[in-house]
Amino acid sequence: EVPVPGKFSTRYDLEKETELRFEVESGEAVEQIELELLTGMAEVFGSELNRNKKYTFGAGAKIAVFTWQGCSVNLYGKPEVAYVSKDTPMLLYLNTHAALEQMRRQAERDNERGPRVMVVGPTDVGKSTVCRLLLSYAVRVGRRPTLVELDVGQSGVSVPGTVSALCIERPADVEEGFSVQAPLVYHFGSTTPGTNIKLYNKLTSCLAEVYSQRCEVNRKASVGGCIINTCGWVKGSGYQALVHCASAFEVDVVLVLDHERLYNELKRDLPHFVRVVLLPKSGGVVERSKECRRDTRDEKIREYFYGFRGVTFYPFSYEVRFSDVRIYKIGAPSIPDSCLPLGMSQDDTQLKLVPVTPGRDLTYHVLSVSSAEDGEEGARKGIVESPVCGFIVVTNVDTQTQVMKVLSPAPRPLPRHTLLIMDIRFMDSK
Ligand code: ATP
Repeated sequence: EVPVPGKFSTRYDLEKETELRFEVESGEAVEQIELELLTGMAEVFGSELNRNKKYTFGAGAKIAVFTWQGCSVNLYGKPEVAYVSKDTPMLLYLNTHAALEQMRRQAERDNERGPRVMVVGPTDVGKSTVCRLLLSYAVRVGRRPTLVELDVGQSGVSVPGTVSALCIERPADVEEGFSVQAPLVYHFGSTTPGTNIKLYNKLTSCLAEVYSQRCEVNRKASVGGCIINTCGWVKGSGYQALVHCASAFEVDVVLVLDHERLYNELKRDLPHFVRVVLLPKSGGVVERSKECRRDTRDEKIREYFYGFRGVTFYPFSYEVRFSDVRIYKIGAPSIPDSCLPLGMSQDDTQLKLVPVTPGRDLTYHVLSVSSAEDGEEGARKGIVESPVCGFIVVTNVDTQTQVMKVLSPAPRPLPRHTLLIMDIRFMDSK
């Protein structure tokens, strides 16, 4: 055992079926923590650790190192918290995976489709972690499942304010999570489904349709099934959105984390052939404050432009003339039914494209670059249902010269000229 110079290290000997949980302090300029597996076998959220390799975790990381057989590990540096727990629901999660795998085998035999699974529950119950675990276990046995990310607040796939789908081809990287290559992303525009529930449901349906089309032509994707991560909003319209998602994707299994009432409601409201399963949350899941969530969102946008860990991106900054782009907001402010023009419903207003006149207040807003073909009026149709090809941030607006400056991952020119404005802002401190 060679100690890292100047770093405090602690050895943990873990018995089988226990986990070491640790948290790295959040904030800037904090000491990173390194993890090394010394003997035995262990995994972090479903991804196996290599022996004698140092894994680094930065500010705010909350990690569990679980072992099925027993192992010993070293932590280098001083984590904010570190303790061993014998009380984990991992066996139940593994059994869930085994049941899903059984369904995939049967699908293969009978030429049917594999399980479509929706993971639901309030905030901070570990939904994203359970999704990651089930997806990693599935790829480890050779499957090609799809992750459907409907959590517009804390997306694991793209920037906040989007919904997306990603084919999973290898287990999540221990330090970085799933490799995000060529995801299918749609613009939602804000961090909570409640700001435009009609749009949210519409995008859920779009993703379901594209996924089903892919399943028709790709047998592996069909057998692999999908794991759908949802928002923590489980009441009122949030609940209705879950029911809508279950029907749009024709889900076979719903995993309810730690919420008995939600479990009972879904059992009551979903068709009887949908298996609704109540699972406990892990005691290790850490509650995150509003600030913490905001920081994570900010970080996600920063990563999009500047890269992550070993990979550094160099974004471009250039000027765009107002006359060269069309900026829209999806959804007009709702007006009383009695004031709506004849023959129009609230649905129409929520999905309507409202042209945005560029002004100073555009500064710092994140804009999605729609993949919809450029064109006049006619092309406006379909913009809502078109995937996004990237994002830019407005860094400055000059109303005099009718020009705005943008931060962009690619050099000029913009690939398309239809831009959709998000409520989300990003202040570039670099
Ligand atoms: P949201 O409210 O955003 O939907 P969620 O329910 O998806 O949250 P997760 O993101 O899965 O929750 O988990 C919250 C945090 O807890 C994450 O930082 C995750 O790394 C951490 N975590 C999950 N399980 C454990 C565990 N067993 N031990 C330690 N930390 C954990």
